[in-house]
Amino acid sequence: MTPERFRKLKNVLSKRQPTLTVLLEEVHKPHNFSAILRSCDAVGVGTAHAVVPRGGLPTYNATSGSAEKWVRVEQHASVLEAVEGLQARGFQVLATHLSERAVDYRTLDYTRPTCVLLGAEKWGVSAAAASGADHNVVIPMLGMVQSLNVSVAAATILFEAQRQRLAAGMYDAPSIPFEEFERTLFEWAYP
Ligand code: SAM
Repeated sequence: MTPERFRKLKNVLSKRQPTLTVLLEEVHKPHNFSAILRSCDAVGVGTAHAVVPRGGLPTYNATSGSAEKWVRVEQHASVLEAVEGLQARGFQVLATHLSERAVDYRTLDYTRPTCVLLGAEKWGVSAAAASGADHNVVIPMLGMVQSLNVSVAAATILFEAQRQRLAAGMYDAPSIPFEEFERTLFEWAYP
């Protein structure tokens, strides 16, 4: 471990956002799962949540750029349990779901503790999860195709969260508790 590498690990950890996360509801294609984790890493999401699809958690592939080393994935058996658990911890859950109450994703405040709920490639977010969420959000679509690839939707919304959090100074000082910071640094430095 060179001193530069150690400094890099510390710097990345100091920008992690424990109050920003995603919940993947049965996203099952490895390239999508991998690409979402890569975007998570880029905006400072240190823990992602996933409801395990029937075939098991997708494997990672080269699309991840090794992001799975830096982003923890917490698995859940049920999407409602995951949504309620995050809400109980103070997170607003934003379901990416076209419904009558859906709003443009740019109208919301991502400096609040926020979880972006993303749905399966074919079926999207379940109706139950969408109605349990605090908000339903959409990325406006002006073309012929009705929806984006799930990893593209994830990146679009996560980078809006990053934009707002940068403007609010939320990357300026570490926000992970000291003990967790030290423990993670040790795990990253000496895997
Ligand atoms: N037929 C599905 C449906 O009705 O939701 C399409 C699923 S889409 C291919 C997969 C996931 O990408 C969605 O569940 C959502 O999480 C995300 N997504 C795709 N396009 C979106 C958009 N325009 N706004 C918000 N989320 C979107």
